Amino acid sequence: MKTSSVASRTQVTLRPGRHYTESCRKTEAAEEPPSTSAVLNNAEEEPPSKTATRYKRLGHIPDNLWNDWRWHFRNRITTVEQLSQFIPLSSEDSVTPHYLSLIDLNDPDDPIRKQAIPSIQEMTMSALGMEDPLEEKKDSAVPGLVHRYPDRALMVLTNICPMLCRHCTRKREWRNGAWVRNDAEIQVMLDYVRRHKEVRDVIISGGDPLTLSTRRLEGILSKIRAIEHVEIIRIGTRFPVVLPQRIDAELCNMLSKYGPIWLNTHFNHVREITPEAAVACDRLVRSGVPVNNQTVLLRGVNDSVEAQMALCHGLLRIKVRPYYLFQCDEVQGTEHLRTPVEVGIKVIEGMRGHTSGLAIPTFVVDLSHGGGKVPLQPNYVLSETEDELVLRNYEGRVLHYRNPGRGKSPEPAAEVAGVSGGIALKLAPEGERNADRVIVRP
Ligand code: SF4
Repeated sequence: MKTSSVASRTQVTLRPGRHYTESCRKTEAAEEPPSTSAVLNNAEEEPPSKTATRYKRLGHIPDNLWNDWRWHFRNRITTVEQLSQFIPLSSEDSVTPHYLSLIDLNDPDDPIRKQAIPSIQEMTMSALGMEDPLEEKKDSAVPGLVHRYPDRALMVLTNICPMLCRHCTRKREWRNGAWVRNDAEIQVMLDYVRRHKEVRDVIISGGDPLTLSTRRLEGILSKIRAIEHVEIIRIGTRFPVVLPQRIDAELCNMLSKYGPIWLNTHFNHVREITPEAAVACDRLVRSGVPVNNQTVLLRGVNDSVEAQMALCHGLLRIKVRPYYLFQCDEVQGTEHLRTPVEVGIKVIEGMRGHTSGLAIPTFVVDLSHGGGKVPLQPNYVLSETEDELVLRNYEGRVLHYRNPGRGKSPEPAAEVAGVSGGIALKLAPEGERNADRVIVRP
C-alpha cells in the first residue's frame, strides 16, 4: 500500500489532546489514496481561506496539511465522540474538516450543518420513505452497473464518500461497511459495456469515485475510453464541495488524457463555494473537464428563490453550470429535509426572467420505482387554440403567440386584457409591441 507514509508522518491533532492517525480510519484499506508526490503542486495557487470555524477550532492545522486532501480524508470526523468536540449532537456521522470549517457552530439551523450533522428527525420520521426509492438494485445489469436508460450506464465503484450527506439517496449503503469494487467486478462491468454497443455514455459514481487513488481511477478510465462506442464519460463526485483539495494537479493531468470527461458535482448552498472549491473547479475546467452542478432542494438549506439565485450566480462565477435542481428523493430518514414539489416550481418561477437562462437549472423529480427523471416547470401556457397560444411571461403579462403551421395566421402579438371570464383582446399600441426586444435581423 502506498498510503501509509503521509498518515504516519502526519499525526495531527484536530484538537489539543486528541490525535488522529491512520489507524483511526475504518476505511483506509479500501481507499488507496495516491502517493505523497501528488500533493498540490503549486501552493501559491491555494487561497488562504479561513472561515470563522477554522480560525476558532482548526486554526492550529498548518496550511500545508489543510491544503492536502489526504490529510482531510484521513482525518474525517466519523464518530459522535469526535464530532461532539465541535458540535453537540446525537448520532454517527462522517464529515471532512474542510466541510466542518464551513459550519456556523452557533447556529443550530445552519444550512451547511443540516447537510452534515445527523438530526433526531432522521429516526423519528424514518417510517416515511423507502430504502431504495429509485430501485437501483433492480436495474443492476451486473453487480455495480445500473443500465436504466438505453444509451447510458452507471458504474458504482465504491460506497465510500468523504462525507455522509444527510439527504443521500444511497443511505442504504452506509450500513454495509466500506467497500470498493475489486478488479474482477470492474472487469465484469466493463465487459457488459463492451457488449452493449448502444451505451454511448458511461457515468462513474459511488459513493464517491474520487475516493479511489488517481492511479486506480486511471486504470478504469483508460479501459472505458478504449471502448469505441463510448463517446463520453461522466464522473459524479462531491469532492469539489466537501474536500476540494482532492482536485489536485495529478488528478487533473490524468483526467485530461481521457476526455471527453464531464464532471457533475453537488453544491447545495452558496457558502460551499469557497476559494478552495473555486480553485478545484478552475483546475478541472482548464484540464478540459466541464463541471456541471446537481443541487438537491432541501428544506431550510436552499428552498428559496434567494438561496438558489445566490447559489447559481456563485456557480457561474466559478465556471460551473447549474444543471439539475433535484426534488429530494423519498429516502428513509430524509423526510425532514424534503419540500413540497410546488416549492421547486416556485423557485424556478422566481428565477426565470430575473436572471439569465444559464443560471437556471432544470427542476426534476426522479420518480420512485425507477420511473426516471421528469422535468417540472411553471405553467406558462394558459390556453391554446388551433393557431395560437396564450402565454404568461415572467412578469405575469399575458400574451398571444401565433403558432405557425397549424392553421391560418391570426393577428400579430397582442396583449390580453383579462383571461378569466372570457378573453378580451387588446392590441398593444404600435411601437410598444416587442419594445424590449433587440432586432438583430431585418
Ligand atoms: S457525496 Fe453523494 S453519494 Fe456520498 S453521501 Fe453525499 S450525496 Fe451520498
